[in-house]
Amino acid sequence: MKRIYLDHSATTPVDQRVLEAMLPFLTEEFGNPSSLHSFGRAAKVALEEARQKIASVINASPGEIVFTSGGSEADNLAIAGAARAYRDKGNHLIANRIEHHAVLHIFEELEKEGFEVTYVECDRYGMIEPQTVESAIRPDTILMSIMHVNNEVGTINPIQEIGAIAKNRNILFHTDAVQSFGKLPLDVKIMPFDLMSMSAHKIYGPKGIGALWVRRGVKLTPILYGGSQERGQRAGTENIAGAVGFGKAAELCKLEMAAEMPRLKQLQKLLWNTIQKEIPNVRLNGHPEQRLPGHLNVSFNGAAGDELLIHLDLNGIAVSTGSACTSGAVGLSHVLKGMKIETQYGRGAVRMTMGRSSKEEDIPLIIEALKNSLSKLASE
Ligand SMILES: *Cc1c(COP(=O)(O)O)cnc(C)c1O
Repeated sequence: MKRIYLDHSATTPVDQRVLEAMLPFLTEEFGNPSSLHSFGRAAKVALEEARQKIASVINASPGEIVFTSGGSEADNLAIAGAARAYRDKGNHLIANRIEHHAVLHIFEELEKEGFEVTYVECDRYGMIEPQTVESAIRPDTILMSIMHVNNEVGTINPIQEIGAIAKNRNILFHTDAVQSFGKLPLDVKIMPFDLMSMSAHKIYGPKGIGALWVRRGVKLTPILYGGSQERGQRAGTENIAGAVGFGKAAELCKLEMAAEMPRLKQLQKLLWNTIQKEIPNVRLNGHPEQRLPGHLNVSFNGAAGDELLIHLDLNGIAVSTGSACTSGAVGLSHVLKGMKIETQYGRGAVRMTMGRSSKEEDIPLIIEALKNSLSKLASE
């Protein structure tokens, strides 16, 4: 059976070219970049080249890139690190309800430390309106965090406008760009951000490595203590092979973005149009236009998303779902709840995210598997 992977927002395979770039740093080039001998110096050079490649995708200076263990750590470091470093300036933070848990849960921790957090609402498309954020600002607001692309429904937020509001009020602005880095143009020289989270495994790099971009001059209190690696911002011997892989993956995305994104947008349109033609009672979740190329979140009315996922998997199609439970509103993901999706639709939501391996010839197979699975479910 042909297997079709439609879960690129969860993770991606390591690109062959990335793997080849990494291999020497797992074998003969094993040095510790803090060592002064030739082994160490070779590792240090590779680390700094990787930093340069990642910085160049967002037009940053290499010195502004801090390697972390992934997107989750980058989110934690940005939010806890900035909130704690600037606490003497104010005690109020702004977040929203549909962020990734790596953002939501660190805000909840900061509330336990005494910070006050306002969680702004999104609209029915999962979009955060700049006015909503603006009206949450208080004189003691020090930091706001709004994600660029929502991982579950694919909506692209107007972070340029939101960042401008933050900048006007002298408030630090963090964006979780894990879903958009390497896919959508990002230029920190012209975009009003202070902190940006990225991750390698969402862009055909290895798991367990990510980065935080920290605008020069922004201070962070570390969340990890030890050696003075990463300019004292993140202790621990660097993951050289991981960083090299991340650098290569970022470089490839930069080179291929202009061709790959229109291709994925076209495939996404074709799949959605075919679904609408062939299957009754479907609904797109997330924004109809402002969405990540290749990202679809579709509700199949009457079906339960997690049961549909299992049937599709038996047909070789790998998708994901935001609802962990079929028994009603309690089972809807925090994102669909935040969007106030009706339960009957929300429970049938399935995320299909395309990537480098996706081809037009997959679409008839996906449709056939959807029809099979839905008719099986209806007869159960
Ligand atoms: C995947 C993801 C993360 C977490 O990144 P890891 O590298 O898996 O820790 C954070 N935010 C968003 C939006 C993501 O999609």
